[in-house]
Amino acid sequence: MAKDLSQTKWHGVPRQDVPWVPTVSRDACIGCELCFVTCGREVYEIELTQGKGRKAHVERPYNCMVGCSTCAMVCPTEAISFPLRDIVWKVEREHKIFKIVHAEAEEKRTRAGTIAARQQAEQHLGSTQTRLRVRIAGVFGEKQFLTKLQELVKDRPFDIENLQLHVPTLKGLMENTPAYMDFEVTSTIQEDVQPLLDALKVLVADNGLVWVEQR
Ligand code: SF4
Ligand code: SF4
Repeated sequence: MAKDLSQTKWHGVPRQDVPWVPTVSRDACIGCELCFVTCGREVYEIELTQGKGRKAHVERPYNCMVGCSTCAMVCPTEAISFPLRDIVWKVEREHKIFKIVHAEAEEKRTRAGTIAARQQAEQHLGSTQTRLRVRIAGVFGEKQFLTKLQELVKDRPFDIENLQLHVPTLKGLMENTPAYMDFEVTSTIQEDVQPLLDALKVLVADNGLVWVEQR
């Protein structure tokens, strides 16, 4: 079932207020069906006429992408025509569409950035060789534990991911109640993780924390 795009908007302007639609000269049309096959927006249907063979018919004019004229370019008999471009420029000016266009451009960049970040993350995930979950507990307070953790992995082929601090209650935190910290030790290359774990355990003990488990 072909989609009807006549109720959509073109940069904020109702599509039906933008008169960019193709017209087919039935006399010039030889029914080659190239427009029907070329248009990706299902603007055309082909009719079987009595005695005159096939003829292209503009069935969904407002499905046409504003500014596109591909079908007219490929039509072998120049049977397809479009309004003058001035008509589109007039709509652009009258409806002041560029504020909306800038917002759409921003959205497009954000979307592209999000996709790139996701692909990067997936790539990273796919190439991860080591993934070890560690849980430690204790009073983290002013110990600069994260800075020391970062120092520990800085020159090693490992990273720390998905780090989470689980604080039982906010009041508890103020009163120095023990909290849990979870993180994953990861590496994208095959490397013995044991020396790092040993150093980590020393760091945990030196900071008065408790090594709960590793998985
Ligand atoms: S491309 Fe031109 S000649 Fe061919 S069917 Fe379409 S309008 Fe007719
Ligand atoms: S101009 Fe483009 S979108 Fe419009 S009918 Fe032709 S091929 Fe389809």
